[in-house]
Amino acid sequence: MTRVRPAGELKAEVHAPAVIVGAGACGLGAAIFLRDLACETWVLERDAVARGSTALSSGFIPAAATAAQRALGIEDSIEMFAQDIQAKAAGMAAAHLVKAYTQAIVPALDHLQHEHGFEWEILDGFLYPGHRRRRMHTLAQRQGQALIDRLLQRAQALEATVVTNAQVVDLYLDEQQHVRGVGVLRPDQQVETIGCDALLLACNGYGGDRDLVRQHLGAMQDALFAGHQGNDGSAVKWGQAMGAAVADMGAYQGHGSWAVPQGILLTWAIMVEGGVQLNQQGLRFHDETHGYSEAAAAVVAQTDALAWCVFDDPILKLAGSFPDFVSLQNTGGVVMAQDIDALAGRIGCASETLAHTLNWPLESSDNFGRKFKRRLQAPFYAVKVTGALFHTQGGLDIDAHCRVRRSEGTCLPNLWAAGGAARGVSGPEVSGYLSGNGLLSALAGAWIAAHEIAQYLGGQHA
Ligand SMILES: Cc1cc2nc3c(=O)[nH]c(=O)nc-3n(C[C@H](O)[C@H](O)[C@H](O)COP(=O)(O)OP(=O)(O)OC[C@H]3O[C@@H](n4cnc5c(N)ncnc54)[C@H](O)[C@@H]3O)c2cc1C
Repeated sequence: MTRVRPAGELKAEVHAPAVIVGAGACGLGAAIFLRDLACETWVLERDAVARGSTALSSGFIPAAATAAQRALGIEDSIEMFAQDIQAKAAGMAAAHLVKAYTQAIVPALDHLQHEHGFEWEILDGFLYPGHRRRRMHTLAQRQGQALIDRLLQRAQALEATVVTNAQVVDLYLDEQQHVRGVGVLRPDQQVETIGCDALLLACNGYGGDRDLVRQHLGAMQDALFAGHQGNDGSAVKWGQAMGAAVADMGAYQGHGSWAVPQGILLTWAIMVEGGVQLNQQGLRFHDETHGYSEAAAAVVAQTDALAWCVFDDPILKLAGSFPDFVSLQNTGGVVMAQDIDALAGRIGCASETLAHTLNWPLESSDNFGRKFKRRLQAPFYAVKVTGALFHTQGGLDIDAHCRVRRSEGTCLPNLWAAGGAARGVSGPEVSGYLSGNGLLSALAGAWIAAHEIAQYLGGQHA
């Protein structure tokens, strides 16, 4: 339920200077930064426990020139990172956000490290497609659940008010389009009202709204949605009801290796390091090195929307460093085949076809444009996967300060959006998603929005 109501109807029971809708990485990150700037902040979260898509994620955040990178002697730069983002998006990512986010993620991660004890590690052993440097920051647990737990713990320690079981359903707007408050649906079905001076929409995108997915992401309309059900398009719906613009609505993060039936993410490092995807006929169907996001639609287009990820011993060793992979092994999701006949039996295809497929040319490009350095060697390992939608990258159009823009280009006076609620840095299509664009937008956007809101509130009360 998303309504925009006249401010005259607002009878606020309490008032908070800064209100944030959604307690994911963006909302909780912004709450931490706002509290550090001495702003009273309320975070309203529809679930009983703060999780969001952030908790479902791998928790990998790309950033260049951070203290963590420097400590490891990794030579990288904000400019190179920005170029990599644009190269993946074929130059079509919103330039003002690429610049703003690649810059802001540095103080955001450094601040969390130095002021709040986040001990960032940098992923080692392989590079995600499109990243020229090792720049994926992660907590030791390498899981989004650890990230969200840590952000929540810090936000609460700083006395941000985090209210759960609090689904924001109404925004109250005055005649100048200031948001004067919100209506919050509580478990007893009562709507409570909270007045505010500034509002940040950090409630992610529309991956959980089938109608919006059908409208904007045709290729994924029947695909499994592996993100958080709270990604119901609220931000886009409110925005459109108040004349805000949306942008890049065709962009999304998909993933071409969502293990079924386990429902566990199989790391794309397996593909990058020489693994392949085969359909049920035992045939390859795309260049797996392009990226996991666009691979989702390629897998969904195969029979039953299924594929097998196939790899061998050297790759198994690397995969074992990912906790999700270990979970998959423990639940029987990784099958071993001693030879091609056994693998064909697992996949249900002809041995001759499979033998032909796995005998790809070396050093020269194959039919899909991929160059292999080596062929897979028995024993083989295989995981059955589908293509899944993870989160949408289109959303409310924002300026470099994360202020929500109206259709005619001016900004709404006290409304900010960031993370999955706003357009990202992937351009208009799925192929533009560079690994990590999701949490980059969430935490860099949180940093920017928090500082802008603090400045706005300071100016208001001066
Ligand atoms: C399986 C998976 C793996 C991923 N791995 C990575 C990765 O490694 N790196 C990366 O960069 N990205 C990754 N992503 C994407 C990443 O998770 C998202 O881009 C990121 O978490 C978005 O953060 P957010 O704070 O905007 O949204 P969320 O974390 O989804 O938080 C939004 C919150 O808003 C709440 N909410 C929604 N509507 C309302 C409302 N009306 N009222 C109150 N609360 C509301 C929701 O309940 C939710 O808690 C992955 C996604 C998935 C699904």
